[in-house]
Amino acid sequence: MSHRKLIVSTGNEHKVEEIRKILKDLPIEVLSKKDIGLNNMTVIEDGDSLEENSLKKAQALADKVDYMVLADDSGLFVDILNGEPGAFSSRYAGEEGNDKKNNIKLLQRLENTPLEKRSAKFMTVMVLITEDKETIIVSGECKGIIGRESIGYNGFGYDPLFIPEGYNNTFAELGEDVKNRISHRAKALENLRDKISKLLGE
Ligand code: IMP
Repeated sequence: MSHRKLIVSTGNEHKVEEIRKILKDLPIEVLSKKDIGLNNMTVIEDGDSLEENSLKKAQALADKVDYMVLADDSGLFVDILNGEPGAFSSRYAGEEGNDKKNNIKLLQRLENTPLEKRSAKFMTVMVLITEDKETIIVSGECKGIIGRESIGYNGFGYDPLFIPEGYNNTFAELGEDVKNRISHRAKALENLRDKISKLLGE
């Protein structure tokens, strides 16, 4: 059986590996931008929504290659803050990717908010563009609450603050195995697997 190639629009090899694992039963070869010599290609994520950013990333790559391409964008949406930090999650405190500062800012913004009003969700939007340039959008979410302090050392981003529904510990305490079962990215990837499976007539 010939394997169709799927190029993931990210420089993050962990993401590529996670996607590869979830799609392993499908006749698809999952490759990163780097694998096809496009690691220098960067796209500015300046959209106001996850969908806008993922579309932008996927389209930029689809313009360059004839394979299937995939892009994703995730963020944390806190209800009482009207969805902040949302699409701006990675640069909430001003500096791109400074997790510590972002977490401190979020805790400060919720300083006077009681636990029962600290509901939030992580969301992921994934955009797949096929070889025929058909666009397919899937999403996944994981509901929870924002704890009162930073606890745990696993993961990244807001993991030390996020307590998923049905648990009493943060993502950073629960670790990778639990997270990979219930996370926003895991859910989006399951939806993606179903869509690709249909696309391939599996
Ligand atoms: P990205 O689109 O996956 O790069 O995620 C954007 C930002 O959202 C990250 O820099 C984090 O601040 C936050 N984020 C996304 N997914 C997670 C997660 O699983 N745990 C904690 N923070 C996350």
